[in-house]
Amino acid sequence: MTSREEHQTLREMLGSLALGHLTAAEADRVQAHLDGCAECRAELAEVASVVPLLDRVDPVTFASPASPPADLGARIRAAVAAEPPRTDDLAHRRTSRHARPGRTRSRLVVAAAAVLVVGVGIGGVVGRATAPPEPAAAPGPYEPITLEEVGDVDLVVDEAGLVPHTWGVELAMDGAGFTEGAVYRAKFRDEQGRLQPAGRFLGTGAAEMSCSLQSGVLREDVQEVVVVDEQGRTVLRSAL
Ligand SMILES: [Zn+2]
Repeated sequence: MTSREEHQTLREMLGSLALGHLTAAEADRVQAHLDGCAECRAELAEVASVVPLLDRVDPVTFASPASPPADLGARIRAAVAAEPPRTDDLAHRRTSRHARPGRTRSRLVVAAAAVLVVGVGIGGVVGRATAPPEPAAAPGPYEPITLEEVGDVDLVVDEAGLVPHTWGVELAMDGAGFTEGAVYRAKFRDEQGRLQPAGRFLGTGAAEMSCSLQSGVLREDVQEVVVVDEQGRTVLRSAL
C-alpha cells in the first residue's frame, strides 16, 4: 500500500479513533501514520474537538429527523463551484514558470475546468489503460513546441509543449480563440505518416484555456503535431 492509499484509508478511521472505537491494533496503526502525517493530525484535532459535543446531543431530538433545508443542493453546488478545481502538476509548473501579467490565475484555472479533455481513439485509450502509475514527481522533461496557425483561423497559442512518458506522450497547450463549444482534436503523425488520435478538447472562445492531451504514441515516433477542427480541417501544425 502506498503512503497515499494508507493516508486515505486511515483518514476514514480518525473519527473512530477519536470516539475510542478502534481495536488496539487499529489504533496503533493509525497512531503510526499520524506521527508522519501533519494533515491527519490536523484532521484528528478537528474531529476530537467535536467529540465532547456529541455527549451533549439528546437522542430524543433524532426521533423525527429534520429534513434538509430546501436550498441545500444549491448551496453545495455553489460551494463546489467556488472551490478552485484541482489542476495537474504540469499546469501548476507551467503557470508558475510563466507568470503572465494581465492574465489572472483564476481566469486560467476556470478556463481549465471548462476544457473537456478526453482520451479518444486507440492511441489515447490504450495509452491510458496500460499506463503504469508514474510517480507524480517524475514527469519527463517538458519540450516546448511551436504550433503555427494553418489557413484562415484566428487562434492564440500562448504555450505548447510535449511531455514524454513511458506510455506515450502528452501535449500541453494554453491558448484562446478556439470556437466556443466546438470540438477540436489533436493528432500526432507517427513515423509511418499516420495520424494518431491524441484526444480532443472543447473551444472556449475568447476565454483562455489550458489543456493536456495524451496519446499512446511514443515521443520518439512523433513527427508532427496537428490540431483539427470539427470539420477535420487542420488549424494548427507543428513540425518537430
Ligand atoms: Zn494522513
